[in-house]
Amino acid sequence: MDGTQPTPGAAPHDVDVDAPWRRTAAAAGLLGDAGPVPTVFETMTGLAVEHGAVNLGQGFPDADGPDALLRLAADAVLVGPNQYAPGTGDPALRQAVAEHRRRHWGVTEDPATQVMITTGATEGIAATVLAFVRPGDEVVTVEPFYDSHAATIALAGGRHVNVPVEAPDFLPDPARVADAITDRTRLLIVNTPHNPTGAVYPRELLEELVALCRSRGVLILADEVYDHLVYEGEHVSLRSVAGAEDIALTVSSAGKAFAVTGWKVGWLTGPAELVGAARAVKQFLTYSSGPAFQRALGAYLPTDDAERHLAGQRERYRDARDRLVAGLREAGLDPVVPAAGYFVVVDLAPWGVTDAAEAAVRWTREAGVTGIPVGALCRPDGGHLRSWLRLAFCKSPDAIDEAMRRLAEAAPRLRAA
Ligand code: GLN
Repeated sequence: MDGTQPTPGAAPHDVDVDAPWRRTAAAAGLLGDAGPVPTVFETMTGLAVEHGAVNLGQGFPDADGPDALLRLAADAVLVGPNQYAPGTGDPALRQAVAEHRRRHWGVTEDPATQVMITTGATEGIAATVLAFVRPGDEVVTVEPFYDSHAATIALAGGRHVNVPVEAPDFLPDPARVADAITDRTRLLIVNTPHNPTGAVYPRELLEELVALCRSRGVLILADEVYDHLVYEGEHVSLRSVAGAEDIALTVSSAGKAFAVTGWKVGWLTGPAELVGAARAVKQFLTYSSGPAFQRALGAYLPTDDAERHLAGQRERYRDARDRLVAGLREAGLDPVVPAAGYFVVVDLAPWGVTDAAEAAVRWTREAGVTGIPVGALCRPDGGHLRSWLRLAFCKSPDAIDEAMRRLAEAAPRLRAA
């Protein structure tokens, strides 16, 4: 409560001092003086467009996914389905997701009861958190965390508890996770591969986390949307770990794997009982969405072309990562080389930066290069990574080269605090 008195005729944000939207926005650091502001991703993309900057901020590829998939979707729009998909998703896609997860991650899930198609992984996250987190329950995440994790915990009335991770490996210490768990803890949210750091959680770490949550009666939600973008090591789906079967849910999606982030086709998988509970919520969020996109993915996922795309994309992104890392080093910075994902994180403290949120705006305006402050994915004060910036490399070689050319040119000015 901030003590604001209701004013007749005032905008809702002036009167609803305790409204759910307010705590949701606040939890993601988006409650401005004049009301709620858009996510950091949308804000920085807007600023990049305004200043003609190379946008290495919001994580989306600058080239669309494989032709064969795009054609299947176009055909599906023309011949249908264009009416509501079933609430749990197109049966052919559920089947394809179950097969894909068995083939790639060694997890066996019944497509009829253990796989639910969602409107992007984001809806799967929201449905899970809203299904299981009661007001006052605690939810543990690793900091930095994805903004929607914090926002949905707040929307549910939960208390967000953080375990900070440190450079260069950015892996959580299970002992610190154990310390963070109390009798009120309902859920642990794990994100591997991790946004923004690119950390890939090894199997032993996941085993420790699963054993810990089992012994303390805590559910786990594993956000694995970068599962196919691993350049060093290998992705382990948390649900493939012994003991996770009946306590863990996983979300993933087609957006990153097939470079179609705007399609918003994701999937939630887990024990039938927990998926059913999440469904009780999900069917009142979107009910269902994108039937033609679902049909197209259901047909594409089992194909050799899909496998070739995943392998080729991995090579391209690895090269793009190396190109970005090299460019940042040439400009005089010392980025952490990520094992996975879309992003490189780099500490700007050696350039005299204490708050990368300010630096991100300055870089956009003065250098024409846009990134995301890692502090936007931390507690409201920016946590221990306040001076760190995230830069996306899911972009063309030309875009990355141009960004690095601009950065090298502006570096002397940016360095002067
Ligand atoms: N997942 C994307 C990122 O981290 C952003 C998605 C969004 O804009 N909501 O950049």
